[in-house]
Amino acid sequence: MTEHTRTRTHHWDEPRDKCGIVGVFGCENAARLAYAALYALQHRGQESAGIVASDGHNIQSVKGLGLLTEAISPGDRGELPGHIAVGHVRYSTTDAKRVQNIQPLVIEYSQGIVAIAHNGNLTNARTLRELYEGRGSIFQTSTDSEVFVHLLADPEHIGVADPLGECLKHVRGAYSLLLMTSSRLMAARDPHGFRPLSLARLGEGYVVASETCAFDLLDAEFVRDVEPGEVISIDQSGLKSWQFAEPGECGRTQCIFEYIYFSRPDSVLFGESVHRVRMRLGERLAQDYPADADIVISIPHSGDSSALGYANKSGLPLDVGFVCNRYIGRTFIIPPEEDRSGSVRIKLNVVADTVRGKRVVVVDDSIVRGTTCRARLSMLRKAGAKELHMRISAPPICHPCYYGIDFPHSHELIAAKQSVEEIRQYLGVDSLGYQTAEGLLSAVSGPDEQYCMACFTGNYPVAVQEDMDRLAMERRPWTDA
Ligand code: SF4
Repeated sequence: MTEHTRTRTHHWDEPRDKCGIVGVFGCENAARLAYAALYALQHRGQESAGIVASDGHNIQSVKGLGLLTEAISPGDRGELPGHIAVGHVRYSTTDAKRVQNIQPLVIEYSQGIVAIAHNGNLTNARTLRELYEGRGSIFQTSTDSEVFVHLLADPEHIGVADPLGECLKHVRGAYSLLLMTSSRLMAARDPHGFRPLSLARLGEGYVVASETCAFDLLDAEFVRDVEPGEVISIDQSGLKSWQFAEPGECGRTQCIFEYIYFSRPDSVLFGESVHRVRMRLGERLAQDYPADADIVISIPHSGDSSALGYANKSGLPLDVGFVCNRYIGRTFIIPPEEDRSGSVRIKLNVVADTVRGKRVVVVDDSIVRGTTCRARLSMLRKAGAKELHMRISAPPICHPCYYGIDFPHSHELIAAKQSVEEIRQYLGVDSLGYQTAEGLLSAVSGPDEQYCMACFTGNYPVAVQEDMDRLAMERRPWTDA
């Protein structure tokens, strides 16, 4: 196992997802394939990575802190033989920087060894943890995900026809889950389907991953999404699947923010191209908030597709206003004494020739606290932009997420505290247009009710009081570093 103990300093003003997961069954060198797939999922978590593999008898793991290449060296990866593997990349809270918390979790219980990789947040994890600790169970990590292990080890769930399905009936909230034993790979998605999870074929084998861009890298063929409330089990006898639960009481409530920010534009998410949805978001912005301007630029890269949509619809030329340093990822280390404007410049630099003397439409995906957005806009002003017209693909984010996306508390979300006009003044732009909730829903297919919009509306599809209490206790003070 690779263990790094250094501390990573965050410089962000962007929402952060907590995980990307991949499972491989029935392929030679499954760990190598999982490693390659995790490259494609690196955008979903940059603070730790792990892979667990089985040759049908023995389970071995490698994990570490940092980006995939820092956490797992090619040598470590090559030492994991077997035809089954599960991999995980995560963004961790401060609390979760302990090496024990790095997933996949590998735990031995009375039925053997299991490895678990989880994307999402459980809303009743504390209740379950207290229940099992009260019965004498010892938890090895501080993650939500370990409750799955204790549920599996519960004597009430051993020997039943569908142990995993039986366990999952006790958890609430968001989970896309992979579970591996020495001879089997299992996948499950919560009854609401908050987080994505898809299935593909690779030769005679199978791949399950958070996003379809991982399949493209492996040249695997997309088959379908894992359905909300479904368990898939793959072993030597083939693939079986069943519903362990019908869709939640509010039905399917998939995270609409996956389209706006998290997922890669080359992924097909919940049945639709992320790039196409983002383009439609930009088109709708152009329709709702036209601007008398010379050019359209994006904040790379999550604003790229929407900027293209805005340019197409408005007839304004699309140009390159920022260049991104491709080699630092979404988080990066910077000395604490450095000022924020310096850290913003490390990530993005202005192409001054593009914006000098121009009236510029700037398209970004969302605004969280507004500090980074303001710093970027200030760079455009300094480079000589004559007018700035900010357009945001998402509606104002006024509420935290309790289903696996790490937004700050409401009091640190700028849209929860200030009007659009106040935000415009704070950002120092000539106009500001946020996507409407109606505009957002018009960009995606399917009934409106099948999407979670809670961070915009405050209407949470799964009760969250326990999680609100827990996160309030656990979260570090959010700084604008
Ligand atoms: Fe996604 Fe927002 Fe719902 Fe969280 S609250 S699951 S980020 S739509």
